[in-house]
Amino acid sequence: MSKELAHLTRGALAGIKPYVPGKPIEEVEREYGLKDVIKLASNENPLGPSPLAVDSLQEAASRVQLYPDGSCHYLREELAAHLGLEPKNLIIGNGSDEILKLVAETFINEGDEAVMANPSFSEYDFCVTLMGGRSIKVPLDADFRHQPEAMLEAVTPRTKLIFICNPNNPTGTIISGDQIKKMLSQLPDRALIVFDEAYYEYVDDPEYLSGMELVKSGWKNVLVLRTFSKIYGLAGLRVGYGMGHEDLISWINRAREPFNVNSLAQLAARAALRDKAHVQKSRQMNSQEKEYLYGKFKELGLPYVPTQANFIFVDLKTNCREVFRRMLEQGVIIRTGDIFGHDTFIRVTIGTREQNQRFIETLEEVLKNLR
Ligand SMILES: *Cc1c(COP(=O)(O)O)cnc(C)c1O
Repeated sequence: MSKELAHLTRGALAGIKPYVPGKPIEEVEREYGLKDVIKLASNENPLGPSPLAVDSLQEAASRVQLYPDGSCHYLREELAAHLGLEPKNLIIGNGSDEILKLVAETFINEGDEAVMANPSFSEYDFCVTLMGGRSIKVPLDADFRHQPEAMLEAVTPRTKLIFICNPNNPTGTIISGDQIKKMLSQLPDRALIVFDEAYYEYVDDPEYLSGMELVKSGWKNVLVLRTFSKIYGLAGLRVGYGMGHEDLISWINRAREPFNVNSLAQLAARAALRDKAHVQKSRQMNSQEKEYLYGKFKELGLPYVPTQANFIFVDLKTNCREVFRRMLEQGVIIRTGDIFGHDTFIRVTIGTREQNQRFIETLEEVLKNLR
Protein backbone atom coordinates (compact mmCIF):
# COMPACT_ATOMS: atom_id res chain seq x y z
CA MET A 1 0.00 0.00 0.00
CA SER A 2 1.22 3.52 -0.81
CA LYS A 3 2.49 5.59 2.11
CA GLU A 4 2.55 8.80 0.00
CA LEU A 5 -0.35 10.66 1.57
CA ALA A 6 0.23 9.43 5.11
CA HIS A 7 0.93 12.96 6.44
CA LEU A 8 -2.60 14.01 5.42
CA THR A 9 -4.44 11.09 6.99
CA ARG A 10 -5.73 10.61 10.54
CA GLY A 11 -3.31 8.77 12.79
CA ALA A 12 -5.92 6.17 13.69
CA LEU A 13 -5.76 4.71 10.18
CA ALA A 14 -2.17 3.59 10.70
CA GLY A 15 -3.51 0.93 13.07
CA ILE A 16 -5.98 -0.52 10.58
CA LYS A 17 -5.40 -3.53 8.37
CA PRO A 18 -7.83 -3.88 5.45
CA TYR A 19 -10.63 -6.40 6.07
CA VAL A 20 -10.06 -9.76 4.33
CA PRO A 21 -13.48 -10.92 3.14
CA GLY A 22 -14.41 -14.46 2.17
CA LYS A 23 -13.40 -14.87 -1.50
CA PRO A 24 -16.33 -14.24 -3.88
CA ILE A 25 -17.38 -17.17 -6.10
CA GLU A 26 -16.90 -15.15 -9.32
CA GLU A 27 -13.30 -14.29 -8.36
CA VAL A 28 -12.36 -17.93 -7.78
CA GLU A 29 -14.06 -19.04 -11.01
CA ARG A 30 -12.15 -16.35 -12.93
CA GLU A 31 -8.78 -17.05 -11.34
CA TYR A 32 -8.91 -20.84 -11.50
CA GLY A 33 -10.98 -21.25 -14.67
CA LEU A 34 -13.63 -23.20 -12.72
CA LYS A 35 -17.40 -23.34 -13.13
CA ASP A 36 -19.09 -24.95 -10.14
CA VAL A 37 -17.39 -23.21 -7.22
CA ILE A 38 -19.09 -23.45 -3.81
CA LYS A 39 -18.60 -20.89 -1.05
CA LEU A 40 -18.70 -22.02 2.55
CA ALA A 41 -16.74 -19.03 3.78
CA SER A 42 -19.13 -16.27 4.87
CA ASN A 43 -21.98 -18.03 6.69
CA GLU A 44 -24.58 -17.14 4.08
CA ASN A 45 -27.82 -19.14 3.82
CA PRO A 46 -27.18 -22.07 1.44
CA LEU A 47 -30.91 -22.20 0.61
CA GLY A 48 -30.75 -18.64 -0.71
CA PRO A 49 -33.18 -15.84 0.08
CA SER A 50 -36.87 -16.33 0.81
CA PRO A 51 -38.83 -16.49 -2.47
CA LEU A 52 -41.20 -13.90 -0.97
CA ALA A 53 -38.26 -11.52 -0.54
CA VAL A 54 -37.17 -12.07 -4.14
CA ASP A 55 -40.72 -11.31 -5.38
CA SER A 56 -40.80 -8.08 -3.37
CA LEU A 57 -37.73 -6.82 -5.25
CA GLN A 58 -39.75 -6.60 -8.48
CA GLU A 59 -42.16 -4.17 -6.86
CA ALA A 60 -39.33 -2.17 -5.30
CA ALA A 61 -37.28 -1.99 -8.52
CA SER A 62 -39.79 0.15 -10.41
CA ARG A 63 -39.67 2.82 -7.69
CA VAL A 64 -35.93 3.29 -7.26
CA GLN A 65 -36.04 6.87 -8.57
CA LEU A 66 -37.41 7.74 -5.12
CA TYR A 67 -35.30 8.07 -2.01
CA PRO A 68 -35.95 5.32 0.51
CA ASP A 69 -37.89 5.95 3.71
CA GLY A 70 -35.08 7.25 5.90
CA SER A 71 -36.79 6.12 9.09
CA CYS A 72 -37.55 2.57 7.82
CA HIS A 73 -41.02 3.13 9.25
CA TYR A 74 -42.74 -0.07 8.09
CA LEU A 75 -39.76 -2.33 8.65
CA ARG A 76 -39.40 -1.03 12.21
CA GLU A 77 -43.14 -1.48 12.83
CA GLU A 78 -43.15 -5.05 11.57
CA LEU A 79 -39.94 -5.92 13.39
CA ALA A 80 -41.29 -4.41 16.60
CA ALA A 81 -44.43 -6.54 16.35
CA HIS A 82 -42.32 -9.61 15.57
CA LEU A 83 -40.00 -9.04 18.53
CA GLY A 84 -42.45 -7.67 21.09
CA LEU A 85 -40.74 -4.27 21.25
CA GLU A 86 -41.73 -0.73 20.21
CA PRO A 87 -40.48 0.84 16.96
CA LYS A 88 -38.63 3.46 19.03
CA ASN A 89 -36.46 0.63 20.42
CA LEU A 90 -35.13 -0.16 16.94
CA ILE A 91 -32.51 1.22 14.60
CA ILE A 92 -32.00 -0.23 11.12
CA GLY A 93 -28.58 -0.27 9.46
CA ASN A 94 -26.94 -1.00 6.14
CA GLY A 95 -26.03 -4.37 7.63
CA SER A 96 -25.31 -4.68 11.33
CA ASP A 97 -21.75 -3.73 10.34
CA GLU A 98 -23.01 -0.19 9.86
CA ILE A 99 -24.58 -0.18 13.31
CA LEU A 100 -21.27 -1.30 14.82
CA LYS A 101 -19.61 1.67 13.16
CA LEU A 102 -22.38 4.01 14.35
CA VAL A 103 -21.90 2.72 17.89
CA ALA A 104 -18.20 3.51 17.77
CA GLU A 105 -18.94 6.95 16.28
CA THR A 106 -21.46 7.58 19.05
CA PHE A 107 -19.30 6.48 21.98
CA ILE A 108 -15.59 6.27 21.22
CA ASN A 109 -13.33 9.30 21.65
CA GLU A 110 -9.59 9.08 21.15
CA GLY A 111 -8.09 6.91 23.88
CA ASP A 112 -11.38 5.34 24.97
CA GLU A 113 -11.37 1.58 25.40
CA ALA A 114 -13.54 -1.30 24.24
CA VAL A 115 -13.34 -4.81 25.65
CA MET A 116 -13.86 -7.78 23.33
CA ALA A 117 -13.03 -11.47 23.12
CA ASN A 118 -10.20 -12.92 21.05
CA PRO A 119 -10.82 -14.42 18.59
CA SER A 120 -14.11 -12.76 17.78
CA PHE A 121 -15.70 -10.76 14.95
CA SER A 122 -13.04 -8.43 13.52
CA GLU A 123 -15.42 -5.49 12.96
CA TYR A 124 -15.36 -4.60 16.69
CA ASP A 125 -11.64 -3.93 16.64
CA PHE A 126 -11.97 -2.15 13.30
CA CYS A 127 -14.63 0.38 14.30
CA VAL A 128 -13.01 1.13 17.67
CA THR A 129 -9.54 1.59 16.13
CA LEU A 130 -10.99 3.79 13.38
CA MET A 131 -12.29 6.21 16.02
CA GLY A 132 -8.90 6.32 17.75
CA GLY A 133 -10.00 4.01 20.55
CA ARG A 134 -8.15 1.03 22.02
CA SER A 135 -9.33 -2.56 21.73
CA ILE A 136 -8.72 -4.64 24.83
CA LYS A 137 -8.79 -8.27 23.72
CA VAL A 138 -9.54 -10.95 26.26
CA PRO A 139 -8.74 -14.52 25.14
CA LEU A 140 -11.48 -17.14 24.97
CA ASP A 141 -11.06 -20.05 27.38
CA ALA A 142 -9.74 -23.53 26.45
CA ASP A 143 -13.21 -24.49 25.18
CA PHE A 144 -13.32 -21.36 22.98
CA ARG A 145 -15.88 -19.62 25.20
CA HIS A 146 -16.05 -16.04 26.46
CA GLN A 147 -14.45 -15.43 29.88
CA PRO A 148 -16.87 -12.95 31.44
CA GLU A 149 -14.86 -12.51 34.67
CA ALA A 150 -11.69 -11.73 32.76
CA MET A 151 -13.62 -9.33 30.53
CA LEU A 152 -14.97 -7.50 33.58
CA GLU A 153 -11.46 -7.30 35.03
CA ALA A 154 -10.37 -5.61 31.81
CA VAL A 155 -12.86 -2.79 32.38
CA THR A 156 -11.21 0.53 33.35
CA PRO A 157 -12.53 4.07 33.80
CA ARG A 158 -11.86 4.54 30.06
CA THR A 159 -14.01 1.58 28.98
CA LYS A 160 -17.00 2.66 26.88
CA LEU A 161 -18.01 -0.55 25.13
CA ILE A 162 -18.00 -4.28 25.79
CA PHE A 163 -18.66 -6.52 22.79
CA ILE A 164 -20.16 -9.96 23.28
CA CYS A 165 -20.59 -11.96 20.10
CA ASN A 166 -23.24 -14.51 21.04
CA PRO A 167 -22.91 -17.03 19.43
CA ASN A 168 -19.29 -16.11 18.83
CA ASN A 169 -17.86 -15.87 15.35
CA PRO A 170 -15.61 -17.84 14.48
CA THR A 171 -16.14 -20.44 17.23
CA GLY A 172 -19.95 -20.83 17.38
CA THR A 173 -19.88 -20.88 21.19
CA ILE A 174 -22.33 -19.05 23.45
CA ILE A 175 -22.17 -17.22 26.76
CA SER A 176 -24.94 -18.47 29.05
CA GLY A 177 -27.85 -16.49 30.47
CA ASP A 178 -26.48 -16.94 33.99
CA GLN A 179 -23.11 -15.57 32.97
CA ILE A 180 -24.75 -12.59 31.27
CA LYS A 181 -26.88 -11.71 34.30
CA LYS A 182 -23.90 -11.97 36.61
CA MET A 183 -21.82 -9.83 34.31
CA LEU A 184 -24.44 -7.10 34.03
CA SER A 185 -24.96 -6.95 37.77
CA GLN A 186 -21.24 -6.19 38.21
CA LEU A 187 -20.88 -3.80 35.30
CA PRO A 188 -20.58 -0.06 35.91
CA ASP A 189 -23.34 1.64 33.89
CA ARG A 190 -20.81 3.94 32.20
CA ALA A 191 -20.07 1.11 29.80
CA LEU A 192 -22.40 -0.09 27.07
CA ILE A 193 -22.61 -3.80 26.46
CA VAL A 194 -23.20 -4.74 22.82
CA PHE A 195 -24.58 -8.21 22.16
CA ASP A 196 -24.01 -9.23 18.56
CA GLU A 197 -26.63 -11.89 17.83
CA ALA A 198 -26.06 -12.32 14.08
CA TYR A 199 -26.64 -16.09 14.49
CA TYR A 200 -29.45 -15.88 17.05
CA GLU A 201 -31.94 -17.80 14.90
CA TYR A 202 -29.73 -20.92 14.85
CA VAL A 203 -29.31 -21.27 18.61
CA ASP A 204 -30.95 -24.26 20.36
CA ASP A 205 -29.04 -24.37 23.66
CA PRO A 206 -31.52 -23.83 26.55
CA GLU A 207 -28.79 -21.97 28.51
CA TYR A 208 -28.90 -19.17 25.95
CA LEU A 209 -30.37 -15.77 26.84
CA SER A 210 -30.92 -13.11 24.20
CA GLY A 211 -29.85 -9.59 25.11
CA MET A 212 -33.32 -8.62 23.89
CA GLU A 213 -34.76 -9.88 27.19
CA LEU A 214 -32.49 -7.39 28.99
CA VAL A 215 -33.70 -4.57 26.75
CA LYS A 216 -37.27 -5.58 27.60
CA SER A 217 -36.42 -5.50 31.31
CA GLY A 218 -35.34 -1.89 30.91
CA TRP A 219 -31.52 -2.09 30.90
CA LYS A 220 -30.35 1.20 29.36
CA ASN A 221 -26.76 0.19 28.65
CA VAL A 222 -27.55 -2.83 26.48
CA LEU A 223 -27.62 -2.85 22.68
CA VAL A 224 -28.51 -5.99 20.73
CA LEU A 225 -27.61 -6.46 17.07
CA ARG A 226 -29.17 -8.86 14.62
CA THR A 227 -29.10 -9.15 10.85
CA PHE A 228 -30.96 -10.20 7.72
CA SER A 229 -27.67 -11.41 6.21
CA LYS A 230 -27.49 -14.86 7.75
CA ILE A 231 -30.59 -17.05 8.20
CA TYR A 232 -32.77 -14.60 6.21
CA GLY A 233 -30.45 -14.93 3.23
CA LEU A 234 -30.22 -11.23 2.31
CA ALA A 235 -26.49 -10.56 2.77
CA GLY A 236 -26.23 -8.87 -0.63
CA LEU A 237 -28.92 -6.32 0.23
CA ARG A 238 -27.35 -5.16 3.52
CA VAL A 239 -29.91 -4.93 6.35
CA GLY A 240 -29.26 -5.34 10.05
CA TYR A 241 -30.88 -3.89 13.15
CA GLY A 242 -30.19 -2.82 16.69
CA MET A 243 -32.49 -3.07 19.72
CA GLY A 244 -32.11 -0.92 22.79
CA HIS A 245 -33.65 1.58 25.18
CA GLU A 246 -35.21 4.50 23.26
CA ASP A 247 -32.66 6.97 24.67
CA LEU A 248 -29.78 4.79 23.50
CA ILE A 249 -31.36 4.37 20.05
CA SER A 250 -31.92 8.11 19.69
CA TRP A 251 -28.26 8.84 20.50
CA ILE A 252 -27.04 6.36 17.91
CA ASN A 253 -29.54 7.81 15.40
CA ARG A 254 -27.71 11.15 15.60
CA ALA A 255 -24.69 9.58 13.92
CA ARG A 256 -26.74 7.83 11.22
CA GLU A 257 -26.89 8.98 7.57
CA PRO A 258 -30.45 9.95 6.56
CA PHE A 259 -30.91 7.31 3.84
CA ASN A 260 -28.70 4.52 5.11
CA VAL A 261 -30.93 1.57 4.16
CA ASN A 262 -32.00 1.31 0.52
CA SER A 263 -35.60 0.76 -0.53
CA LEU A 264 -35.07 -2.71 -2.02
CA ALA A 265 -33.50 -3.88 1.20
CA GLN A 266 -36.35 -2.50 3.31
CA LEU A 267 -39.06 -4.25 1.28
CA ALA A 268 -37.17 -7.53 1.02
CA ALA A 269 -36.46 -7.58 4.75
CA ARG A 270 -40.17 -7.16 5.51
CA ALA A 271 -41.06 -10.00 3.15
CA ALA A 272 -38.31 -12.23 4.58
CA LEU A 273 -39.59 -11.59 8.09
CA ARG A 274 -43.04 -12.85 7.07
CA ASP A 275 -41.66 -16.01 5.47
CA LYS A 276 -41.50 -18.06 8.66
CA ALA A 277 -41.46 -21.31 6.67
CA HIS A 278 -38.18 -20.36 4.99
CA VAL A 279 -36.54 -19.56 8.32
CA GLN A 280 -37.85 -22.80 9.80
CA LYS A 281 -36.58 -24.85 6.87
CA SER A 282 -33.17 -23.16 7.02
CA ARG A 283 -32.87 -23.83 10.75
CA GLN A 284 -33.88 -27.46 10.37
CA MET A 285 -31.44 -28.10 7.57
CA ASN A 286 -28.68 -26.47 9.57
CA SER A 287 -29.18 -28.66 12.62
CA GLN A 288 -29.39 -31.80 10.51
CA GLU A 289 -26.29 -30.94 8.45
CA LYS A 290 -24.39 -29.94 11.58
CA GLU A 291 -24.75 -33.55 12.78
CA TYR A 292 -23.66 -34.84 9.38
CA LEU A 293 -20.47 -32.75 9.50
CA TYR A 294 -19.77 -33.64 13.15
CA GLY A 295 -19.91 -37.32 12.14
CA LYS A 296 -17.51 -36.80 9.24
CA PHE A 297 -15.06 -34.81 11.36
CA LYS A 298 -15.08 -37.62 13.92
CA GLU A 299 -14.35 -40.19 11.18
CA LEU A 300 -11.46 -38.03 9.98
CA GLY A 301 -10.17 -37.55 13.53
CA LEU A 302 -10.50 -33.77 13.35
CA PRO A 303 -11.38 -31.97 16.59
CA TYR A 304 -14.15 -29.39 16.17
CA VAL A 305 -15.85 -26.86 18.40
CA PRO A 306 -19.56 -27.73 18.93
CA THR A 307 -21.49 -24.87 17.35
CA GLN A 308 -24.67 -22.91 18.05
CA ALA A 309 -24.44 -21.19 14.68
CA ASN A 310 -24.27 -22.11 10.97
CA PHE A 311 -20.51 -22.63 10.83
CA ILE A 312 -17.97 -24.91 12.48
CA PHE A 313 -14.44 -24.14 13.70
CA VAL A 314 -12.38 -27.25 12.97
CA ASP A 315 -8.79 -28.16 13.77
CA LEU A 316 -7.12 -29.74 10.72
CA LYS A 317 -3.90 -30.25 12.68
CA THR A 318 -1.94 -28.97 9.70
CA ASN A 319 -1.25 -25.58 8.13
CA CYS A 320 -4.65 -24.19 7.18
CA ARG A 321 -3.40 -21.88 4.43
CA GLU A 322 -2.04 -24.77 2.42
CA VAL A 323 -5.34 -26.64 2.75
CA PHE A 324 -7.24 -23.47 1.86
CA ARG A 325 -5.17 -23.00 -1.32
CA ARG A 326 -5.60 -26.59 -2.44
CA MET A 327 -9.33 -26.55 -1.75
CA LEU A 328 -9.69 -23.34 -3.77
CA GLU A 329 -8.14 -25.14 -6.74
CA GLN A 330 -10.93 -27.70 -6.35
CA GLY A 331 -13.55 -24.95 -6.22
CA VAL A 332 -14.35 -25.07 -2.50
CA ILE A 333 -14.00 -21.78 -0.60
CA ILE A 334 -13.58 -21.91 3.16
CA ARG A 335 -12.17 -19.50 5.78
CA THR A 336 -8.71 -19.97 7.26
CA GLY A 337 -8.16 -19.82 11.02
CA ASP A 338 -4.89 -17.88 10.83
CA ILE A 339 -6.81 -14.60 10.57
CA PHE A 340 -8.30 -15.54 13.96
CA GLY A 341 -4.92 -16.52 15.40
CA HIS A 342 -5.39 -20.29 14.95
CA ASP A 343 -3.07 -21.51 12.20
CA THR A 344 -4.34 -25.07 12.02
CA PHE A 345 -8.06 -24.28 12.10
CA ILE A 346 -10.61 -23.50 9.41
CA ARG A 347 -14.11 -22.09 9.72
CA VAL A 348 -16.60 -23.74 7.41
CA THR A 349 -20.19 -22.69 6.80
CA ILE A 350 -22.73 -25.52 7.12
CA GLY A 351 -24.14 -25.96 3.61
CA THR A 352 -26.66 -28.18 1.87
CA ARG A 353 -26.00 -31.95 1.97
CA GLU A 354 -24.57 -31.80 -1.53
CA GLN A 355 -22.21 -28.95 -0.62
CA ASN A 356 -21.16 -30.61 2.62
CA GLN A 357 -20.40 -33.88 0.83
CA ARG A 358 -18.30 -32.07 -1.73
CA PHE A 359 -16.52 -30.15 1.04
CA ILE A 360 -15.75 -33.35 2.98
CA GLU A 361 -14.58 -35.29 -0.08
CA THR A 362 -12.31 -32.42 -1.14
CA LEU A 363 -10.96 -31.97 2.37
CA GLU A 364 -10.26 -35.67 2.75
CA GLU A 365 -8.34 -35.78 -0.52
CA VAL A 366 -6.36 -32.62 0.23
CA LEU A 367 -5.40 -33.86 3.70
CA LYS A 368 -4.35 -37.26 2.29
CA ASN A 369 -2.12 -35.62 -0.31
CA LEU A 370 -0.50 -33.45 2.36
CA ARG A 371 0.57 -36.43 4.45
C1 LIG B 1 -21.99 -11.66 9.51
C2 LIG B 1 -21.86 -10.99 10.81
C3 LIG B 1 -22.32 -9.69 11.03
C4 LIG B 1 -22.57 -8.74 9.90
O1 LIG B 1 -23.73 -8.77 9.38
P1 LIG B 1 -24.24 -7.68 8.34
O2 LIG B 1 -25.60 -7.42 8.85
O3 LIG B 1 -24.19 -8.38 7.03
O4 LIG B 1 -23.38 -6.47 8.37
C5 LIG B 1 -22.27 -9.15 12.29
N1 LIG B 1 -21.76 -9.85 13.31
C6 LIG B 1 -21.29 -11.08 13.13
C7 LIG B 1 -20.73 -11.80 14.29
C8 LIG B 1 -21.31 -11.69 11.88
O5 LIG B 1 -20.78 -12.89 11.73
